[in-house]
Amino acid sequence: MGAVLTGLGVGLNAVAAPVFKVAPAAKLPEWSKSSAGVEAESEVLKKAITSVAADLARLGATADETSAEIFEALTFLLEDESLFDMAVGHMDEGWGAAAAYGTAVNEFAEMLAGDPAFEERIADLQDLSKRVQASIAGIHVGLDLPSEGAFVIVGDDFSPADTAQFTKAVVGVITIKGGPTSHTAIICRSRSIPAVVSVAGADELENGSVILVDPVGDRVVVGGDLSQATKPLEFANTGAEPLVPVRANIGSLEDAEAAAKTGAVGVGLFRTELLYLNESSQPSVERQGELYASILAAAPEGPITVRTIDAGSDKPVPFLNMPEEENPALGVRGYRLIQDHRSFIEDQLKGLEAARVATGREIWVMAPMIATAQEAAEFAGLARSLGSFKVGVMVETPSIAALLPDLEGIVDFVSVGTNDLSQYLYAADRMNPSLGALLNPWQPGLIRTLERIASQAKAAGIYSSVCGESASDPAFAVLLAGLGFDSVSSSRSQVDAVRSALAAVNESQAQGLAKAVLASKSAEDTKSAAVAALSAL
Ligand code: PEP
Ligand code: MG
Repeated sequence: MGAVLTGLGVGLNAVAAPVFKVAPAAKLPEWSKSSAGVEAESEVLKKAITSVAADLARLGATADETSAEIFEALTFLLEDESLFDMAVGHMDEGWGAAAAYGTAVNEFAEMLAGDPAFEERIADLQDLSKRVQASIAGIHVGLDLPSEGAFVIVGDDFSPADTAQFTKAVVGVITIKGGPTSHTAIICRSRSIPAVVSVAGADELENGSVILVDPVGDRVVVGGDLSQATKPLEFANTGAEPLVPVRANIGSLEDAEAAAKTGAVGVGLFRTELLYLNESSQPSVERQGELYASILAAAPEGPITVRTIDAGSDKPVPFLNMPEEENPALGVRGYRLIQDHRSFIEDQLKGLEAARVATGREIWVMAPMIATAQEAAEFAGLARSLGSFKVGVMVETPSIAALLPDLEGIVDFVSVGTNDLSQYLYAADRMNPSLGALLNPWQPGLIRTLERIASQAKAAGIYSSVCGESASDPAFAVLLAGLGFDSVSSSRSQVDAVRSALAAVNESQAQGLAKAVLASKSAEDTKSAAVAALSAL
């Protein structure tokens, strides 16, 4: 076998094809001060913004639906007045248009830094900044892509504007930077282009040499062919219904529409804060109601579980003006916003009730980052006073995980957010790439906590679900069903794979898998026990 480079795989299919290295974009000039004055520099910036907006409109007109929506969102960001005003502020300090805009975007991006879900927005913003600065400097930042044949393109990372230019000749993608939630990963997943992102050493690959892109193996094999590709776990198509319902996680209208094309039964997590990232003021109840109604109408059939805003820490929402905190993951985030932003949470629930009435959909509402039974009771009372919902809370803190019996008669359901529950159980910052091993959902400490949650919820007559990323792994979803959870909610691209796994097992097989996993004492052993149980089916 040739040299093997490792990274993070995107998708389940492999491809072998020659490398096409994409040249890095032209270098932008250094930032400098200007003596032309604020008025002249603002004119320069305005002209550049108009020209980039025209470019985006042109790209959007010929792009597919997903990319066209991305261009629309980019144009929205580009025309943001507060961003322009921030740039003018820097012109006041004597900076030229490019420097002023670049600095304003960096400041804006800093406010969004943290959560992987928001990293995408940061990439959008930085891409815009580059385009605007290039326009000011009169240089071109386009991509040189193959138009004929079949190639694996290799580059640093690809912006939304770059991925929109991918031709049919792009059959695989490798990036040196990026991550599992980068635009490159999202677009490749949505277009089923095999990709491996975050591949250190990919810049050493040679143009024209054949490589195997092996996403399931999280690797790239130089000189490899398809016979060496790692096979995903396969499940016989029994035509049976999954052992427990598989819902979808969504954060936008586009997600809702895409989820409706899968076998998802309703939505298990609607992350509402994603709608508010670009709002500079609190949207009215009416506006929220309309927005929710369009998303509810598009979502897959079944109950729709809506989470009230989960801002704070790694999820900043500009109009809430939240102060900086020493230790934000342990600070005022999630439901704790009720302290200073009660009216926003109430408005959300009112908007949701209006959307429920308008669409006739069944809505379950839940609050994030609940730590005490009193908070759960307060939220349940508030939600029930404002609408006809099933009411629940997320289980993301170790304290509420220990208090399930106390929630009897208070909530209808709980949904476990394993991303945060891992972070708080293991005292391991979920944004710290060095702590990935502790955040692995196959860690026995998390799994045994999940077992207790499922059994105590059942004993208390509370419906239980899991909506963290762990539920997007088909083998883990079988474990969750075996532990006794009533449903799982997966990232929309994983819904059908999770459904197949859950349709291939019966209750006693899932319970047998859970028993073997619970008897294992390391993250490696729990996963091997699950894979062994599934392979023996
Ligand atoms: C979680 O914490 O698992 C979760 C689903 O919420 P988020 O990832 O949005 O914090
Ligand atoms: Mg969470």
